[in-house]
Amino acid sequence: MPPETSSADHPLLDVLTARGARSDRLKHARTFPARSAQHADWPDWADPQLVEGYQALGVERPWTHQVTAADAAWRGENVALASSTGSGKSLAFWLPALTAVRAGRAATQDGQGRIESTVRRSTVLYLSPTKALAADQLTALTRLLDAAGTRDVRATTCDGDTPSEERRWAAEHADVVLTNPDFLHFALLPAHRRWTRLLRGLRYVVVDEGHAYRGVFGAHVALVLRRLARLAEHYGGTAPTFVVASATTADPAASVARLLGTSADDVTEVSADGSPAGRRTVVLWQPPEITGPAFERSGSTTADGHPAGVSDDDPWALPDPLDPAANEADAVLTVEGAAEHPRRSATAEVADLLADLASHGARTLAFTRSRRGAESVAEQVRDHLRPVSTGLAGRVAAYRGGYLPEERRELEQAIRSGDLLGLATTNALELGVDISGLDAVLVAGWPGTRMSLWQQAGRAGRAGADGLVAFVAREDPLDTYLVTHPEAVFDAPLEATVFDPGNPYVLAPQLCAAAQEVPLRTEDLARFGDPARVREVLDVLVARGLLRRRPSGWYWTHAQPAAGMADLRGSGGRPVRVVEAATGRLLGTVDAASADGQVHDGAVYVHQGVTYVVDHLDLADHVALVVRRDVDHGTWSRDVMEISLEEPGDPDHPAPEGSRPAQRREWGPVTWGLGPVEVTSQVVSFQRRRIPDMQVLDTEALDLPSRTLGTTAVWWSVPDHVLRAAGVDADETPGALHAAEHAAIGLLPLLATCDRWDLGGVSTAQHPDTGEATVFVYDAYPGGAGFAERGYELGERWLRATRDAVAACPCAAGCPACVQSPKCGNDNSPLDKAAAVRVLDALLRHAPDGSPPSAPRPRPSTPATAS
Ligand SMILES: [Zn+2]
Ligand SMILES: [Zn+2]
Repeated sequence: MPPETSSADHPLLDVLTARGARSDRLKHARTFPARSAQHADWPDWADPQLVEGYQALGVERPWTHQVTAADAAWRGENVALASSTGSGKSLAFWLPALTAVRAGRAATQDGQGRIESTVRRSTVLYLSPTKALAADQLTALTRLLDAAGTRDVRATTCDGDTPSEERRWAAEHADVVLTNPDFLHFALLPAHRRWTRLLRGLRYVVVDEGHAYRGVFGAHVALVLRRLARLAEHYGGTAPTFVVASATTADPAASVARLLGTSADDVTEVSADGSPAGRRTVVLWQPPEITGPAFERSGSTTADGHPAGVSDDDPWALPDPLDPAANEADAVLTVEGAAEHPRRSATAEVADLLADLASHGARTLAFTRSRRGAESVAEQVRDHLRPVSTGLAGRVAAYRGGYLPEERRELEQAIRSGDLLGLATTNALELGVDISGLDAVLVAGWPGTRMSLWQQAGRAGRAGADGLVAFVAREDPLDTYLVTHPEAVFDAPLEATVFDPGNPYVLAPQLCAAAQEVPLRTEDLARFGDPARVREVLDVLVARGLLRRRPSGWYWTHAQPAAGMADLRGSGGRPVRVVEAATGRLLGTVDAASADGQVHDGAVYVHQGVTYVVDHLDLADHVALVVRRDVDHGTWSRDVMEISLEEPGDPDHPAPEGSRPAQRREWGPVTWGLGPVEVTSQVVSFQRRRIPDMQVLDTEALDLPSRTLGTTAVWWSVPDHVLRAAGVDADETPGALHAAEHAAIGLLPLLATCDRWDLGGVSTAQHPDTGEATVFVYDAYPGGAGFAERGYELGERWLRATRDAVAACPCAAGCPACVQSPKCGNDNSPLDKAAAVRVLDALLRHAPDGSPPSAPRPRPSTPATAS
C-alpha cells in the first residue's frame, strides 16, 4: 500500500525504505504539522528569585500551559496537567510549590525570636512511580535552586532504601520530600506521628507521571492518596492541593478526580499545550515474510504456558508494563513466526533500520518491549556496523532499568549531545528523562497504548527539523491490525487511564491500613468511595476479625502493620530466586506468579545467553536451584485451567466481598455477562522441544499445586443451534471458540488500558455455568482491574475489531498475527480460524446490544479448555 499522504518527502524515509527497496514494508505514513510556542508572562505571585533561576537556566518566559496550571495550583485548585513529552510540566508545579515554601521560610526569618518549628511552614510531597525518577527530579530541582542562588529550601529523596538517619532528617527538616507511593504506603503513613511536621504543613502534593497509575496499582495509589489527604487534614486542618502531571490522555480531569476521590468539577484541567514541536512524520511498518528457517530466538517477553499464572494465598499480578523493571525477560525463549508465512521479528527489523539511520548520522531512539530486546537490538546494530566502521558501532548503546544511575546519566547526556547516534531502550526512557529533539524514533512492537506511542514519538523532531517515527509491527494480532488499520492508530481517541478504587480486593487492605493510622469514622467513608460499598467491605472486615467496630468507629487492633496486607504493585509475593546449585550464586529472579511455568524441575533457564537447567524448584523457600548445562532444547510448560461463575448467593462459592453484582445482557440468543469468576490453574507437564526446529523430544509430568484466582470476567455464550446455523459443526466448535478467544484477548488492549498479559481467557464448547458454548476473558488480577468491564461495555466494538482482524489476515489457517497466542496454555490447539470468523459473524448478526438484562442461570461444573 503506498503512503496515503504526500508526506513521503521526509529525508529519512529514503533511508528507511532503502531507496525504495523496502517500500512494500511501509504500510502508511502520516505527517503532523509543527506547533509553534505560545508564551505567557511570569505570574505576579511567583517568587522573583525562582524566576531568576529559571531565566538563568534559559527559560526566558514560560509557556501558556505552564502558567495556566501554576496559577490554578497557586489558587489552591487541584490540577490535572496533561501535555506532551518535553513540555516542561515540572515548572508548572515547582513554581507554586517552591514559592509557597520560600514564602513560609521568609516569614520564619522575619518573626524575630520565634522558634522555627512552631511556625507552620509549607511543605511539599513529590511522588513519582519509580525511585530513579524521584532522584532525577531532585537533581533538576537542585540545579534550579542553585541557579536561583537560594540555599533555604531543604529538599531530599526518601524511599525504602533510605537509611533511618536520613529518614529522620527528612521527617524533621525537609521542606520538599521526593518519594514514591510505596514509601507512603509502607513507611510514611503508618509512621505518621514521626512525620507530623511535614503533614501539618503539607501545601502541595505533586503526582508526577500520573498516567502510570493504572490498573490495580492505580487503584491502590488512589487510596494511598486519600489516606495521605486524611492525615494531612487530621494534623493540619486543611486539605493539600494536588497537582497531577501526566502524558496526554483521554479526559485527564476525570482520571485525576477518580485518583483523588473528588468530582471532576473540583479539578482544573490543563491540556492545551503551549510548547513548540517540530513537524513529525509517523509511519506504520510491517517486517517482510521470511522464507528461511522459520524460527529465530528473540528478546521479547513471554509467559508461555501461563495464560495467567495464579497463586494460592498471595495476591498476585503480572508485572506492570510501566514499571521499567517489570519488562525483564531472562528465562524464556520466544519463538516468533511459527506460522506458514512467518514474518521477520520486529527486533531484527528495528536493528536493521537503526543501523541504517545511524550510518546516515540520524540520532535515533529504538523502543523495545523488554530489557533483553534492548540489549539484543543494540548488539545486532553494532554487529551490522562493525564491518563498516568500528567508530560508528561504538556510537550505539542500550539503555534500560537496572543500570547504575551514573551510567544512565552518561547515556542520556551522550544521546543529547550526539556522541551517541543510536540508543535501543526499554520504556525506561518513556517516563521522565529530558531527551527530545532527536531525528528519529523506532518503536518495535505496539507499546500497549496510543498514549505510550505518542510519549515515545514525542522524542523525535524539534523546531526547524522534522522528526521521523516508525512503528514496527510484531507478528501479533494487535500489531497486524494496527499497521493495516491506520485509523486505529491516528484517528481513535487516546486511552483513558483505567483503574477501579472500588475493587474490594484493593479497598479492604487499604481500609485496614487507614484504620490503623487513625480509626475510621463514619464521616471518613465517603473519602474512600461510595459510602454504602465501603460500609459493606468494613462489615466483612469486622466479621473476619480484622477490624473492630466500636461506637466511635472502626479500629485496627492487631500488632502487625496493616499495610503489609497490600502489595501496591501486586508482584505476587516473594519472587523465586534462581540460584546456581554448584556455587550458590544468585543468577536472577522470576515472579512468583510465573515460577511454576518457568522454573519448574527440568525447565531450561536462559540468562544472558547462557543456558541452565532447573534441578529443583523449592516453592517453600522460593528458590530454584539450577545447573549450568548446554542443551539442544527449550522447555514449554502446559497447564490446565477451570473457570466458574460466582453467582450471588451461592454458598459454595461466595463472591468476593463487595464485588460488583453480575450483569447480563442479551443479543437475541447470545448472552453477554460480566461478573466475578474463580479461575483455577495448575502447571501439569512440560515438553522438551529441540531448537531451532521445535520438534517435540518428550513430555514429562509435573507435580505442582493448583492456584486459584478470584477475579472479574466478561463472557459471551451462544446456543448450539446458532452455531449450527452459522455453519459451525460440533467438531469445529472448540477450535472456533479458542481462536475467537485468542483474537479477542489480542484486541481488547485497543479499548482498555492493558496489554494481553493483563488478561486471561478460557473457552469451552459447553460450560456448566452457562449451559452453552462460552468464551471468557478475565482480568489477570485478584478482584479484577476494570479491563473485563471495559470489554463488556464496548462488546460490539470489541467483537467487530476482533472479527475484522481475523478475517483480514491473509494466512490460510491461522498464524501469530491473528488467532495464535504467544501465551497459550494449550499449545495453540485446537484453533480454527475460518470457523472463528463464522462464529463472530453469527454473534455480530445479533448486535447491537441494549436489550434488558436477563436473570442469572443456575450453575453446576466440568472442565474447560484453557486458553
Ligand atoms: Zn493469520
Ligand atoms: Zn489458548
